[in-house]
Amino acid sequence: MTSAVVDAIAAEEIGGRLWFYTNYHCNLNCKYCLTESAPASKRRLLDAATIVAAADEAVELGFTAFGVTGGEPFLLPGLPESLVELGRRLPTVVLTNGTLFSDQLIARLRPLADLPVALQLSLDTGDEEQNDAMRGPGSFAKAIAAIPKLRSAGIALRIGTTTDGTDPDGLLRLCELHRSLGISDDDHVTRPIIQRGRAVSNDLGIPVTLEALPAELTLTADGAFWSPAGPTVANGRLDIDYLLTRTIRPVAIPATAMLQFAGGRAPLSEPALRVT
Ligand code: SF4
Repeated sequence: MTSAVVDAIAAEEIGGRLWFYTNYHCNLNCKYCLTESAPASKRRLLDAATIVAAADEAVELGFTAFGVTGGEPFLLPGLPESLVELGRRLPTVVLTNGTLFSDQLIARLRPLADLPVALQLSLDTGDEEQNDAMRGPGSFAKAIAAIPKLRSAGIALRIGTTTDGTDPDGLLRLCELHRSLGISDDDHVTRPIIQRGRAVSNDLGIPVTLEALPAELTLTADGAFWSPAGPTVANGRLDIDYLLTRTIRPVAIPATAMLQFAGGRAPLSEPALRVT
């Protein structure tokens, strides 16, 4: 099994990163949110013990990196400690809206400075008004304010932009802004709005195919999925079109399902949708 995962990663049939959906609720309510996340969303938590145990199994199987997303992962009280555990095992990226970084939380994140863990903060444009129209009032200012504090704590940062491509000037301004804050172009990723989740009801984004999604095994409280863009929620119901197995542990079970499915496919071309 281990060599099968290693071989599939080497052959680019699957990606090396294993994703965890820590939770589905969020303090924001973005117009294009894939998971229809909001403060009152059903939480659907992956507890810390499950995450760490799955991480150990993933290392044994040959996965090469971890990703953490949701929902907003930093709503989980124990997340900093879980990230330390992940970062001790493999390089890890955490997707966050960047709005929750109090001084107390940043102090708890300081151990990450010595680990290969990067936080990827969401900012969609350099125009505060436009950013907040999509992501909610105050979200731009809070994320921008967090960047120097996190950098001072030695924590690696990236910027993640979700865009419909209609505001190139706003994107240029965002690039100038993140450079001025010490984040290089290499650490800025962009992706299109895809037509799943809340983007459907708001008539936003582009339709997506399986081929366009990153083939990266994704564990949630509801099962294992083909891609981190797979476990979306529409009209309050989980989409299961990219569900591999309802069982997430031992990780060998969903990994086997992933390999069986990937085995019938050609090696991956670059997915249209980049998450990291
Ligand atoms: S897109 Fe991210 S920040 Fe926005 S509501 Fe969804 S989970 Fe929260």
